[in-house]
Amino acid sequence: MTKWLLKCTVCGEERVFEAGFNLALLGGRVYLYCKRCKANRVHLILGCLEEDGSCPVAGADVID
Ligand SMILES: [Zn+2]
Repeated sequence: MTKWLLKCTVCGEERVFEAGFNLALLGGRVYLYCKRCKANRVHLILGCLEEDGSCPVAGADVID
């Protein structure tokens, strides 16, 4: 699992999302449920929060 920092494009709420796949491959955006909006919203992928250098990068093999 990799931790990512996401931001709702509608209300600006920032949240940490743990994903088992490489969000960097999604082109910077992901469609997820926002607790503040109480609806599915487009979230900007602000970055990866892993501090040990294990952040996947775009173009890398998909991590399952
Ligand atoms: Zn929102």
